[in-house]
Formats: sequence, structure tokens, C-alpha cells
Amino acid sequence: EKVLLTGGTGFIASHVLDCLLDHGFDVVVTVRSREKGQRIIKSINEEQRKRVSYVVVEDIAKKGAFDEVFKAGPPFGYVVHTASPYQMQWNDPVRDCLDPAIKGTTGILESVHACAPTVRRVVITSSSAAILNPPNHPKVYDESSWADVTWDQAMDPEHTYRASKKFAEKAAWDFVAANAPSFTLATINNTYTFGPIPRSLAGLDSLNTSNHRIRDLVQGRMRGGIHPTAPVFTFVDVRDVARAHVRALTVPEAGGKRFYVVGGYFSNPRLTSIIRRRFPRLEGLLPPQKEAAKDDFPEDHWAFDNTRSREVLRLEYTDLEKTVVDTVESILRFEGKE
Ligand code: NDP
Repeated sequence: EKVLLTGGTGFIASHVLDCLLDHGFDVVVTVRSREKGQRIIKSINEEQRKRVSYVVVEDIAKKGAFDEVFKAGPPFGYVVHTASPYQMQWNDPVRDCLDPAIKGTTGILESVHACAPTVRRVVITSSSAAILNPPNHPKVYDESSWADVTWDQAMDPEHTYRASKKFAEKAAWDFVAANAPSFTLATINNTYTFGPIPRSLAGLDSLNTSNHRIRDLVQGRMRGGIHPTAPVFTFVDVRDVARAHVRALTVPEAGGKRFYVVGGYFSNPRLTSIIRRRFPRLEGLLPPQKEAAKDDFPEDHWAFDNTRSREVLRLEYTDLEKTVVDTVESILRFEGKE
């Protein structure tokens, strides 16, 4: 069966694509240019390549941007929407982040509703950013929590990204409530995600945001001192996030639900210690041992409840050590040092 996967170039999407192919799906990815599409196709092994194609959607914020995708070719059974800007600096918060995040989300739902009656489930990559409420944390977070960040706060670049995720997810649930479409919706609210970098990556400078701290450690960019861990200190392995998306597509009870997808806690000193122990040859690039011993993990930290993801999606979470080791190995491989 055929799945539309938006934002095919992305870190998370690259793993969702692998997972979909492993499960026997045919996949059409959307990208912003032909060149990016070609790079993805080249990164897929020959046997699976015939089940992947790409379409160019230049501006996901434009009304009807996805209509043609759904009208062309054999019908789709499922949609996974991952495309959304994830950086921490914006020239124009509305144009560069909030519009593509929110209008991209409502736009794809409108297109499915209008042009793709065969689609049974849409899974959207939301974020823990749509759940967390720093600094007023409850004792335990779960899917019942919504970020209370406001539109006014979103104009401050520090809050723009998390606001974009909250408003985009909210718009998706509002769309479903208002239009009673024939598909059901599920959202994956994954936390800060680490894991092997995409094979189709153009260069380590364009690496996705959440893998920066591991890349920076490996490249010696924290040699002078460890950057503080704040503000996020939970992580999840990208392969667990990918599995969550694929299971949320097909598990009937996943419809209508959000899934808080969290594997455990981390801190930058903990990342450093794992790399030091498992990659002795990187010693000269790492922050000094005495700094790594000072764990800045908050003492009064909050807890997370990932029961729903384990029970409904049957997720089993990868531990921090394996995640870090596999991420570092993928970076070294990319740099040709392995
Ligand atoms: P990447 O930066 O690797 O991927 C982002 C994807 O979105 C790319 O395919 C990118 O395309 C596309 N994109 C960005 N801006 C636009 C735009 N204006 N119009 C069209 N496409 C756009 O990051 P991730 O893989 O980490 O992020 C993927 C999704 O996961 C996002 O929705 C993000 O919010 C969410 N997420 C990520 C977490 C993390 O820790 N990594 C945690 C929780 C949620 P292009 O290559 O052309 O720029």
C-alpha cells in the first residue's frame, strides 16, 4: 500500500522511510527540490528503490500545495506529515516558521479531505514541545498536557519553534473536530531525538538541530567546556520514533490519539562520558574529564509517563548508550573516519 511521507530529506523522515520500506509499503516522499529528491533515491538500496519516488512541493504553506500530489497516480492509503521547520533562529518567525508549520499541517489535511478519500490514517510529527510547559513543570508529563505558549510569545525566537509545534498540532485536532473527515489522525509527540544521521545528508553543517550536541562533542566543538544541557533533558532514539510513526499508521486504536514518545533522560556530561568510554580515540576532542563529572541534570526534575506509547504502539525504548554509540558511529562514518 502507498504512503505519502512529507519532508523526505529530514532526519526523522529518513528513518520513517526506512521503516516503511521494511514493512513493505510503497512510499512517495515530498521534497523542496529535484536535487534533494534525487539524493534520497540514491541513498536507498537497489532492491527497495523501486518502491520509492519523490514529488516536489516547493511551498507547503501555499493553499492547495498538496492537491496535485493526491490527484496524480494510484491512490494513497496513508499519510505521514513530518515537514516543519526546526531551527532556533528566525529572520521572520511567522513567515519562516509558524506559517509553514501551521498552514503546512492544515493544508495537507485539507488536501487529503478534498482529494484523497482512500486515505485512512494521517500521522503528524508533533513534538514534546506541544506538551511541555517550562518552567512550570508538573510532577509527571503525559499526553493530557498542552504547552501554554501564546502567539505573542511566539514572536520571540526563543519560543517560536515550540509555539509552531503547539499551534500546528492544535490546528490539526481542530480540523478533524470541525470537518469529521473519513481519515483518523494520530500525532507523535516525540521528545529530543538522537540517532544515526541520514544517509542522504548533504553535509554535517546541515545536520538536524537535535543531533548538534553529539556532532559538536565529536568534532571537538565543546573541547573548551561542556555546553549546558538545558532546556531539554529527555531523549528518544530516532529508530523508536520511526517505529512509532509506522505503528500509529496501522494500529486501529491509535486513531484519535497523541503519543508522548520518550526513551529516557540525558545530560551533556552523560553524553560526554559515554563517548569517552566507548570511543577512546576521540579523547583529545572531548571536554575535560572533571567537567564531565559535574552532571548538570536537574535535581528536581519532572517525570514522564510513556505508558500509552508502550501499550498501544508496543514501543520498546532504546537506551541512551546504544543511541549515542550508533549516532557517533554514523557521524564518523560520514566523515570517513571509520
Ligand atoms: P530536519 O531539519 O532534519 O527535518 C525537517 C524537514 O522539514 C526537512 O525535510 C525539511 O526540508 C522540512 N522543512 C523545513 N522547513 C520547511 C518548509 N518551510 N517547507 C517545507 N519543508 C520544510 O529535522 P527533524 O527530522 O528533526 O524534524 C522533522 C520533524 O520532527 C519536524 O516536524 C520537527 O518539528 C519534529 N520533531 C523533531 C524533534 C527532534 O528532536 N529532532 C523532536 C520532536 C519533533 P528541507 O531539507 O528542504 O529543509
